[in-house]
Amino acid sequence: MFGYRKIAADVLPTTAYLMTGDRCIYNCGFCPQAQNALSRPRFLSRITWHEAGLEDVAQKTAYAYAAGRIKRVCLQVVSDGQPLSEIRDTVCTIKRFSDVPICVSVRIKNTDELKFIVQSGVDRITIALDAAGSYVYRNTKGGSWNANLDMLYTAADLYPGRISTHLIVGLGETEEEMINILQQMQDRGITSGLFAFTPVPGTPMAGVTPPRVDSYRRIQAARYLMEGKLITASQCKFDSGNLTSYGLTRAALKEHLSGGTAFKTSGCPDCNRPYYNEKPGGVMYNYPRELTPDEISEAVNSILDNLEEES
Ligand code: SF4
Repeated sequence: MFGYRKIAADVLPTTAYLMTGDRCIYNCGFCPQAQNALSRPRFLSRITWHEAGLEDVAQKTAYAYAAGRIKRVCLQVVSDGQPLSEIRDTVCTIKRFSDVPICVSVRIKNTDELKFIVQSGVDRITIALDAAGSYVYRNTKGGSWNANLDMLYTAADLYPGRISTHLIVGLGETEEEMINILQQMQDRGITSGLFAFTPVPGTPMAGVTPPRVDSYRRIQAARYLMEGKLITASQCKFDSGNLTSYGLTRAALKEHLSGGTAFKTSGCPDCNRPYYNEKPGGVMYNYPRELTPDEISEAVNSILDNLEEES
């Protein structure tokens, strides 16, 4: 897309994903950028990030935006101790060449930091929760889930409609915990981007199995139905943490999911993250494009097969 390297791609990104920063000072067990990870440093999830100069990237981004090839820039900030002014300078450089909407995914510690980033000219801020609950957070990231959650809520109150979060399915949470936190995000007006845990060589969680696809589909569907106000988490039923009912008839559920949107990549507007969690030809956790009728049927049937919904 930017002309740095020719690659085969069946789906192009609708957002330009940029990463800034060196080795992270934190130690998330799933992240190849973590301080103690032995992964090659240019990885994030299963993606290798090409190195390039900022001005050049900003110019190429502006060109791609003007040509309608991208609709947003996503700046993933690795917490390497860089001052916030560096993030502001990066945003300002991109903005010098175009008015492309920019979201910044960054660890924020207080409202002063939050306001500083917003005032740099970004459209949205993403504060990644990653984990669906405090014990999962403690086990996989370390630190305080509650403090991060409080920061997220404060941000949502200060900047309504401009805050996103990331949630990773498969870190050890139950479907019930994930669906409940998705409902809380929905209630606070926070946009959730769902990710499937992806084991990356060189990280402490390299040997952990990714989530089952039928479980991921149930959570995607719940997210979609809650976002559309078609259900709430409180009307769902669970057995030992596994979803057994959305509180809908099978016919209603099929009807609501028939367009396939539930199974597409979720997150900020125009974020499709092609193959961020998926190997080409492997399981498509998040579809970066419209689904085919067969793909929709397969996804919906994998949900219906495991539910107690009434006919
Ligand atoms: S949802 Fe997409 S665009 Fe938004 S911060 Fe996450 S990866 Fe970036």
